[in-house]
Amino acid sequence: MSDVLYDSPTEFLHEVAEKKGECVAQSVIPRDDGSYVVACSCEQWEVIASGRVEGLDLARRHTHSI
Ligand SMILES: [Zn+2]
Repeated sequence: MSDVLYDSPTEFLHEVAEKKGECVAQSVIPRDDGSYVVACSCEQWEVIASGRVEGLDLARRHTHSI
């Protein structure tokens, strides 16, 4: 199972465009209020995390990497 994580939304979106519908990439993007939006390339999954580490953890759980 792939476990690719991107900090750059631009890079992430480029990857998603090529792999639409698959859980190949997850993004953890900071919001203005200090929380993070965690999203997956499958477009079926998006959550709010209180921190970057938590976001990465949630992303790995989503892809069953841990
Ligand atoms: Zn997914």
